Amino acid sequence: FDISQGGADGAVARRLDNLGAASVLFYREPIEMVAAEGAWMVAKDGTRYLDFYNNVPSVGHSHPKVVEAVTRQIGTLNTNMRYLVPVVDDYLEALKAKLPDPLSNVVLTCSGSEANDLAMRVARRATGGQGFIVTETAYHGNTSLVTEASPSALKRGGLPDYVVSVPAPGHAAYGSDIAGGFKAAVEAAMAELEHRGLKVAAFMADSIFSSDGIFADPPGFLRPAVEAVQARGGLYIADEVQPGFARSGTAFWGFERHGIAPDIVTMGKPMGNGFPMAGMAARPAHLAAFCEDVGYFNTFGGNPVAAAAGLAVLRVIEEEGLQEHARIVGAHLKAGLEEVAAGAPRVAEIRGSGLFVGVDLCETDAPDRPDAGFTLRVIDAMRESGVLIGAAGRYGATLKVRPPLCLSIEEADRFIAAFDKAVRI
Ligand code: PMP
Repeated sequence: FDISQGGADGAVARRLDNLGAASVLFYREPIEMVAAEGAWMVAKDGTRYLDFYNNVPSVGHSHPKVVEAVTRQIGTLNTNMRYLVPVVDDYLEALKAKLPDPLSNVVLTCSGSEANDLAMRVARRATGGQGFIVTETAYHGNTSLVTEASPSALKRGGLPDYVVSVPAPGHAAYGSDIAGGFKAAVEAAMAELEHRGLKVAAFMADSIFSSDGIFADPPGFLRPAVEAVQARGGLYIADEVQPGFARSGTAFWGFERHGIAPDIVTMGKPMGNGFPMAGMAARPAHLAAFCEDVGYFNTFGGNPVAAAAGLAVLRVIEEEGLQEHARIVGAHLKAGLEEVAAGAPRVAEIRGSGLFVGVDLCETDAPDRPDAGFTLRVIDAMRESGVLIGAAGRYGATLKVRPPLCLSIEEADRFIAAFDKAVRI
């Protein structure tokens, strides 16, 4: 959003003055928030917004059990990983119980970017390769290395030599055979790397393809591509920052929907429900080889407060049955949106799994002509109806529907009604 077009006064001017060009405020007229609870955020003027653009407070904004765990731990002890503090190992064991067996070492970090940066370096060390394959509108983070493997972050210039991108796994690029087409594209990318004198270190993908525009179906389509990379000695880095922690409804991790065995798993955003934490799970041998060369220490990564937050999140997902809840409410939401789409000439396609849905918007009766301008108008109109929503995808014309997992059927219905009104403008 280009906030320079909006009235840059008061709080907006202050933010611009403080952050300069790195300011990332939403909306031409940004909102000042004062509180949040469940799926709702409250603005300074008292307006309550239904939050559909925030998968960090995944078990619900200000969830009392997470708040309680964090408060108790920070009032007791917070320190780095150089001491034995049982809550950290309790957390690591609870997390590992969710991961495939071979990935039995977990390094905790503070952001998804750090986790992916480490994963890419571990992959290079493990394979002796230098090259990476990503999707064409992927975002994996903000460190120097990860930015270079994040096409959506690169505003100028192309990818470096060691990164090759493939089109996102949708019908537009691969027709009806997404699994076969995507595998062929990944194989061509490996051939391109070899042509450049580079061996593949890893194929890195977020299995819900969040910034590419949400591509979830058919489950399993990723498997042939991943196996082709692994057959050539490359690794698969499953970036679970977006699909992980039960969001897809049918599985705890996104990669599980595809029946694949990742070599490295990275995670972040929903992990601490807002407390900044992230992590990378790898095979002990891969991590050991990496640590022989450079070692790894992260001052705040895995601190006891983060561990307490993470443990509370895992418990809440379990106790409140949030994975199954995401499946049920997500199916209801998708069905409702599809019903609206049937009578809305500017809705091209709806995709997704659980509480992660993408809605392509287009020119009237022209599903192959994405319309970013219309998408912005829909986003603004939905705000007027009290719903926060953002866009993603190659053309910026895909609504990224991603509410907290505690969303109720009534809240889903509110969203559907606001969407129905907005796409008719
Ligand atoms: N991977 C994916 C798929 C992401 O969406 C993001 C953040 N949007 C990251 C990695 C980076 O995470 P962080 O912002 O915590 O560094």
